[in-house]
Amino acid sequence: MGVTLTDEQRDFVAAIRDFCAREVGTREQRDRLTDNGRHAHSAEVYAKLADLGWLGAALPEEFGGAGGGMVDACLFLEESARGMAPIGGFGTTLIVAGAYERFGTREQKESMLGGIARGAVEAIAMSEPGAGSDVGAITCRATRRDGGFVIDGQKTWCSNAHIADHVLLVARTDTQGSKHQGMTMLEVPTGADGLEIRGIPTMGGEETSDLFFTECFVPQDNVLGAVDQGWMQLMAGLNVERLILGAIMLGVGRRAFDDALGYVKEREQFGRPVGSFQALSHRLADLATDLECTRLLIYDVAAKVDSDPARMLPREASMAKLKATEVAKRMALEGMQMMGGYGYATEYDMQGHVRQALVSTIYGGTSEIQREIIAKTYGL
Ligand SMILES: Cc1cc2nc3c(=O)[nH]c(=O)nc-3n(C[C@H](O)[C@H](O)[C@H](O)COP(=O)(O)OP(=O)(O)OC[C@H]3O[C@@H](n4cnc5c(N)ncnc54)[C@H](O)[C@@H]3O)c2cc1C
Repeated sequence: MGVTLTDEQRDFVAAIRDFCAREVGTREQRDRLTDNGRHAHSAEVYAKLADLGWLGAALPEEFGGAGGGMVDACLFLEESARGMAPIGGFGTTLIVAGAYERFGTREQKESMLGGIARGAVEAIAMSEPGAGSDVGAITCRATRRDGGFVIDGQKTWCSNAHIADHVLLVARTDTQGSKHQGMTMLEVPTGADGLEIRGIPTMGGEETSDLFFTECFVPQDNVLGAVDQGWMQLMAGLNVERLILGAIMLGVGRRAFDDALGYVKEREQFGRPVGSFQALSHRLADLATDLECTRLLIYDVAAKVDSDPARMLPREASMAKLKATEVAKRMALEGMQMMGGYGYATEYDMQGHVRQALVSTIYGGTSEIQREIIAKTYGL
C-alpha cells in the first residue's frame, strides 16, 4: 500500500521546506542558533514553529493541535530534519505526547498536550546505568507516601531533560512479580526538589543527561495511566516512538544524500566531477534506492498506525526504525567518504550528519534489539 499525500499535506511539506530555507538555510544561521553546533535545540526556532501551529500538527484539536495523524507527524519530522531545523527537543516531546494521548486524564491532556502545542519540550526517562536494552531491569524506585510517591534512584541518557518542563519517569513501584510488572509512569517537573539533572558530554554536544532522584516527591495526580502498568503502557507507545525516530533519520539521511550529491557534482579531479566516476555514482544510486525504500516503509507504517492507532505493529515499527537509522548511518558515512577530506572538516555539515546518524542505531532500542523483535515475530 502506498501513501498518497493530500494537497494539504503537500502544501505542509512545501511550507516546512520554505521555513527551513528561510530561517536555518545557511551555516551562519544555524551556527548562531546552536552556539556553533553545541546545542541540538534552538528555543527561538521552536517558538516560531509553535506559533505556526506545526508542533501540534498531529495533536488532537480539542487540546490545541491541528488534528493530524502519524503521517502528518512524519512529514514534519522528516522535512524539518532534512532542512536541519535545530529542534532536537521535539522527538522526545512527541513520544511523551503519545503517552498522554493514550493514558492521560482529560486534565492531564489539557495541560500536557496544550503545553506541547504552545512550545513546551518534554523528556522521557527509562534507561538506567544498569538497565539499557533490558528496560525491565529498572530499579529507580517510587514509594507511596503522603498521598503521592517519593522517588529515589538514578536515570541516565535522558534526552532533552535540561530543556524540558517535565520528565516522564518510568519507575519501579512494586518488586513482587515478574520484572515487567510493577512499573509506573510519573510526571516529574524538571524543577522538582530532589531531582538533579547533570549533562553527559557526548559527540553530539549537549543533548542528554543523568538524572539523580533523592527523596523527590510527586503527588498522586502525577501518575500517568495506572499504577504498576508502566510496562504495558510503554509497549503501547513503542510503535509510535520507533516511527518518530525513523522519520527523523529519514530526513537526516536525505539531507546527507543531498549534500553528497551537490558536492560530487561540483568537485573536480582528473579533469571531471568526481560524481562522474562510476565508483561513486553507483553507490549514490544504491543509496538513493535505499532511501526511497525507507521512505515507503515509514509512510506505510504511519498510515497503518493512523488507520488503527490501537494496533501494536511490533514487526513493522521495528523494521522502520532499523531501516531508517541504518540507511542514514550508511548514507552519512558514504557521504563523508565521497567528500574526501572535506567531509571530515567541520566547515561542512557532513560530519554533523555522521554524528547524528551514528547514535540513532543505539537510542530508542539498538539495531540488535530491533532485529531481535523482528525475528521474534517470525517465531525465532
Ligand atoms: C544520545 C542518547 C540519547 C538517549 N535518549 C534516551 C532517552 O531520552 N530516554 C531513555 O530512557 N533512554 C535514552 N537513551 C538510552 C538508550 O535507549 C540506550 O542507550 C539503549 O537502549 C541501549 O542501552 P545501553 O546503552 O545500556 O546498551 P546495552 O543494553 O548495554 O547494550 C550494549 C550492546 O549489547 C547489545 N545487546 C544488548 N542486549 C542484547 C540482546 N538481547 N541481543 C543482542 N544484542 C544485545 C546492544 O545492542 C549493544 O550493542 C539514549 C541513549 C543515547 C546514547
